[in-house]
Amino acid sequence: MKRLSLLLGAVALAASMSCLAQTDAKIPAGTVALTVRLPVPTQKLLYVTEVMPVKPGPLTLYYPKWIPGDHSPDGPINEFMGLEITASGKRIAWQRDPLDRFTFHLTVPPAVDKIDISFQFPSKDRVTPNLLDLTWDHVALYQAGYPTKLQMFQPTLVIPADWHYGSALDTMNRSGQSITFKPVPFNTLVDSPVIAGKYFRKVDLTPAGSSVHRYLDMVGDSAAAVDISEAQIADYRGLVEQAQALFHSHHYDAYHLLLTLSDYTSVGGLEHHQSSDDRARGGSKMLADADHFMLDASLLPHEYTHSWNGKFMRPAGLWQPDFEHPERTSMLWSYEGLTVYLGDMLTARSGLWSPQTWREAIAYRAAEMAHRTGRAWRPLIDTTTAVDYSAPGAWANWRRQNDFYPEGELLWLAVDTKIRQLSHDKHSIDDFVRAFYSIDNGSFVTHTYTIDDVVNALNRVQPYDWANVLHTWLDGVNPQVPLLSGIESSGWKLVYTDEPSRYQKALENVGPGELEGSSINAMFSVGLKLNHRGGVSDVLWNGPAFKAGLAPGMKLISINGQAYSTQVLRTEIAQAQQTRKPLQIRAQGDGVTNLYTVDYDGGLKYPHLVREQGTTDYLKQILAPKPVGKGS
Ligand SMILES: [Zn+2]
Repeated sequence: MKRLSLLLGAVALAASMSCLAQTDAKIPAGTVALTVRLPVPTQKLLYVTEVMPVKPGPLTLYYPKWIPGDHSPDGPINEFMGLEITASGKRIAWQRDPLDRFTFHLTVPPAVDKIDISFQFPSKDRVTPNLLDLTWDHVALYQAGYPTKLQMFQPTLVIPADWHYGSALDTMNRSGQSITFKPVPFNTLVDSPVIAGKYFRKVDLTPAGSSVHRYLDMVGDSAAAVDISEAQIADYRGLVEQAQALFHSHHYDAYHLLLTLSDYTSVGGLEHHQSSDDRARGGSKMLADADHFMLDASLLPHEYTHSWNGKFMRPAGLWQPDFEHPERTSMLWSYEGLTVYLGDMLTARSGLWSPQTWREAIAYRAAEMAHRTGRAWRPLIDTTTAVDYSAPGAWANWRRQNDFYPEGELLWLAVDTKIRQLSHDKHSIDDFVRAFYSIDNGSFVTHTYTIDDVVNALNRVQPYDWANVLHTWLDGVNPQVPLLSGIESSGWKLVYTDEPSRYQKALENVGPGELEGSSINAMFSVGLKLNHRGGVSDVLWNGPAFKAGLAPGMKLISINGQAYSTQVLRTEIAQAQQTRKPLQIRAQGDGVTNLYTVDYDGGLKYPHLVREQGTTDYLKQILAPKPVGKGS
């Protein structure tokens, strides 16, 4: 594996660098001095200046377009504003590339060896009056024609003097409001976000005896938001230890889990080699509220797992020499799907989730995928090729979304249980992970891999027709794809009852910020998904509500004559099972109110996993903590 992946990595590197190689020697010597200021946090404006060494003549600048981990050309160029370029105080004209709005062309005058660039970026969903979550790709232009790893940047961040900060970047000095970091290549800068704020807490998660530091850095809008309990800290220490026991390696000098706990920032996570940028769904309530903590618990394990799977070991098509070259995303079933599987496994092994919560989460996702009607026309591989994080929720079940996450997890559960069965419990996915990721301990120079590398590595753990298993799953359409085979071979089965799990209840009842409230997922029964205000967010293709004429975008007003609430909907679905009478749903859309007759008497349906008696309980083995060795 090691030799093969090194070779493939070298080939991929050579191929993608070929058009750049001859220009390497021409890179103007020197380091770009990048300064980002946040003078008025309530205004959320980041003021950017760059002093860039250049040579006279034509120059092309890029705004980062393909951001690693986003898997799509979604750099926020539509927010970029105020660009001015000068040399010795004289303005230099620039032109936008007519075919690519991320690209700017200019001509550097004779005898000029550096230019001054300034612009502003309104960071509306990453700045609050009390904090900043800075991703450097939002606030930098870089030169076209050279690999980003050859372009040195020295970043300076200017923030309120009483704010603290955390980052994988090394600090050179701090003086009052100004923090200057040590120079790094531009790809490392983009890979190294900074969180900063008035309410900041750093927790050392380094295992005893280890010299490799792991930190949990937290920032919030209040002291209460970052008030983490000793039990939660113990679980995150468990995460670091269990990750070590799984991967037997690390690929960072030190690692920072950067956690933003705000009700005013966007929600999500982005992986990096030596840190992760995590914005909790529960915001200020994540640590304080048990349900929020349960829903957010798998976020940090997921992004931490990416340090190995995604950053260090990366599908070849996702490695590019700069942020302008398009990524080829067809391996996301491995990059993301395996990360969901391993991340959730670590969430359970660390204690952040109980095995019961893991089963509830997987039952819910399996039920969602089992009701992904679009699996009849769209193979999983197509969801990886056409990644879309902004696709509408309406008709999501028929269109499919980024299903390589949840269905990818079910695929890897199937692989894991198959290895266990075929090897008579001698081997498991843990052996594959150890072989695939434990190479080059301590290095974070990316290795690239292909589907053939995955197949070969699986075959070394347990010989089988893995190529056929993977291609059948990835390229096939329902019903050929054995969606629930992993659950079924694990000694459990997916069933539906009239009682929701705690996990689903929490999903429906708690939301981020103003979305807090009661939503309902009735896709598994009447075929409706409703938001917290009774708005229809999705309708199951050809399901009971679909056949009655209901559509996303409508709003439910009443059911069987009673004003809509989630409880009324539940009660009437349950009643219809007894009375065998259709539901009479009054709904409004585009100013028109109609009565829709929904013919459904199957009762309430909530997914759960239950034991298949007389079979081996592989989930028990998969989710059990592994012995923790000496830290490294
Ligand atoms: Zn991910």
